[in-house]
Parts: sequence; structure tokens; C-alpha cells
Amino acid sequence: MNDIQAILKEYEEIRDKNRLELEKKKKELYGKLPRLKEIDDEMIKLGLNITKSVLMNEEKRDILLNELRKKQIDLKAEKAEILTANNYPKDYLEIKYNCKLCKDTGYIGLERCHCLMQKLITYRYKQFKLSHRIARENFDSFNINYYSSKPLENGISPRKNMEHILMECIKYAKDFDHHNKNLLFIGRPGLGKTFLCNSIAKDLLDLGKSVIYQSAPDLIDLVRKHKFTFDNEDVEDEALKEIYECDLLIIDDLGTELSTQFSGLVIYNILNKRLILNKKMIISTNLDVDEIVKNYSERISSRIFGNFYMYEFFGEDIRLKLQNII
Ligand SMILES: [Zn+2]
Repeated sequence: MNDIQAILKEYEEIRDKNRLELEKKKKELYGKLPRLKEIDDEMIKLGLNITKSVLMNEEKRDILLNELRKKQIDLKAEKAEILTANNYPKDYLEIKYNCKLCKDTGYIGLERCHCLMQKLITYRYKQFKLSHRIARENFDSFNINYYSSKPLENGISPRKNMEHILMECIKYAKDFDHHNKNLLFIGRPGLGKTFLCNSIAKDLLDLGKSVIYQSAPDLIDLVRKHKFTFDNEDVEDEALKEIYECDLLIIDDLGTELSTQFSGLVIYNILNKRLILNKKMIISTNLDVDEIVKNYSERISSRIFGNFYMYEFFGEDIRLKLQNII
């Protein structure tokens, strides 16, 4: 099964599950409130009559259609009334969709729905664990209390610093359509960089944006596997175009990849193309500024420092602190 077949099967399963759930609710309520079944049956009949009326001559059709639509509205209102009077939500007997936009089909007309785009990314870039991660690590679960409020040599406490970064990150996700910012998270491991990347990813996915989130080594591996032909700009592998075109690309752990000519080329191409396309990125790295300059070519570091807002994370390793607390 290829990716798209697997995804379409996933949609089918979602639709089946939601249909089944509706059937269960109907069974439960029809027994208790038989008038609801009558209404639903009448609604089906009305729907059929409306379809049939297309065949009539125009004048007759309009009168009939008006009448049928009025009946529909009345029945719907009566149904809602019965449900609310019995403490059920108004839409209790309506089918639920995981994605209302495409009604869990993946398509809006002939266009791919954003939910299909993100599912494709999940399969192609093996992001199966992202949804688990963002369920745990998001703005709501972020705990600022882990950061010390004791000022360091620079006069700023880790907590104050994090409060500022946190606010900027929340704003970044909230105003995503209205800015063109790239972020660079710099600092030692265990200070919350990945946590905030996850939090931003979650908010954007909730907004229906496409997000690719990869560690630098995995990203380079992916490109290698697809054998990108970088020498020829025109021969672009269609299968990886999301790396350039998705709404947000998050590159985690820049600097942990094996440094080769190929990896440098991959990183340069991604940075360069996304900057040209005005597509946003977040990079997180354990390297400091000097190390970035030392490890990467001038054309890469100048693109990073020239186009990314830098946020420095400092303080004690939160993960170590957590272990002590637990
Ligand atoms: Zn959709």
C-alpha cells in the first residue's frame, strides 16, 4: 500500500467510526424519544421529494420547493427542541466529522484539504510520534516554575528570560499568518527548546497549517534516501517538495548531524529555497554562535544570522531538575 492509499483508508475508517457512533446514538434515543425517529424518517422523505422536484416545471417546482424547505426547517427546530428539553446537545444526532472542511474525505472539490496535506507529511516524513509529543509538550503544559528566578552573571534570571521567550513563541504561533519570522533557539540541552518547538507545532497544526518537524540528522537522511539531484535545480524530487513548501519547517538539533559536504549542501538548499519562497522556519541547536560559524560554511551561517531571530536559552538542565523532583 502506498502512502496515499494508506491515508485514504484511514479516512474511510474515520468515517465508518463516526457513522457507527451516530447509529448507536440514534438507537439509544429512538427508543426513548420515538418522535425523533418520526422526524428523521420525515426528513429523509422530504430530502427525496426535493431531489425529485428538479424534474418539475419551473413554476410548480418553486412553490413546492418553498413548501418542502419550510417543512424541513420546522422539523429541524422541533428536533432541536426535543433534544434540548431532554438535556442533549442540539446536534447530538448529527454526524460528527474530525475535519468539518472536507467531511473526512481529504478533498474539498478537487483540492487537497489541509488535513490531507498534513497526513501526507506524517507518512512521508515519518512523523508518527509528533502527535503524541505535542499532546504532552504544549503551551498549556509548559511550567515556568522549573526555571530559577535567581539572576545570572548577565543580570537576567533564567525564569525572566524564559517568560520572554515563551511570550514570543505564543505570539509567533498566534500571528503566524501576519509575520515572516524565522526563529533560532540556541542553548545547551535540557532548557526547553524542543518543548517550545513542540508547542508551536501544536498550535499551528490546530490552526490547520502544515508542519514538518525533523531533527537535522533525520532530515538529511530523508533527503539522502530520496537522492536529491541538487546539481540540477530543475530536477527536483516531487516527493520532498513539502520540505520547501510546508507552512513551517522545524529543524531540531542542528549540529548533531554528521558534517559532510552532502549535509552542508542539503542544509544550504533548504534554507536558501525557503527564504526565497518566504516560508518560515525554526531551528534549534545546542551549538553557540561561534560554533555555528565554525561548523558551517559562510553561506549557511550568514543566512541563519541574517534571517533568524535568535533566542538564547540559559539556566540549569530542566530534565535533571525534573528527575530530582520525581
Ligand atoms: Zn479535511
